[in-house]
Amino acid sequence: MTKDKIVKFEEIALERTFLAIKPDGVQRGLVGEIIRRYEEKGFTLVGLKFLKVSRELAEQHYDVHRERPFFSGLVEFITSGPVVAMVWEGEGVVAAARKIIGATNPLSAEPGTIRGDFGINIGRNLIHGSDAIETAQREISLWFKEEELVSWQPTLTPWLHE
Ligand code: UDP
Ligand code: MG
Repeated sequence: MTKDKIVKFEEIALERTFLAIKPDGVQRGLVGEIIRRYEEKGFTLVGLKFLKVSRELAEQHYDVHRERPFFSGLVEFITSGPVVAMVWEGEGVVAAARKIIGATNPLSAEPGTIRGDFGINIGRNLIHGSDAIETAQREISLWFKEEELVSWQPTLTPWLHE
């Protein structure tokens, strides 16, 4: 690989998405397995925290579902134990991260996806992922302060991008 062929990091169309390993994923010991999948795919971790979610944060996070019958149970569940909140960066990461997660109902999720491989119930589907770029921006700023996000250039970049 000659030097002039090496991709310029600034020229990659980077996106960021918000992912959260829910309390069932943490309790089931799947934190490492889930993070591994995004690392191996080639995405870049730029934010990470382990926290017990407040009711206020949970309600804001799931605000679009406020009128749905499952809302109170969902808030109850997401606040019931620790979660791993993350921001991942990369080209096309918002849509790709959702593909890696799989369909909302784990019984319909394809094998090879996180929900398809590890879940059986819609209320225990292990992980949240932003569904669009605008949603990702909203969720990232809800869960993370600007100074909690780290911009860095992985040395692997030229092996992942041409
Ligand atoms: N959910 C639920 N019952 C339902 C639909 C959704 O418990 O009938 C929960 C489930 O945990 C899901 C979350 O609400 O992940 C948010 O729902 P959404 O439709 O946004 O699914 P997602 O984006 O997580 O795939
Ligand atoms: Mg959703």
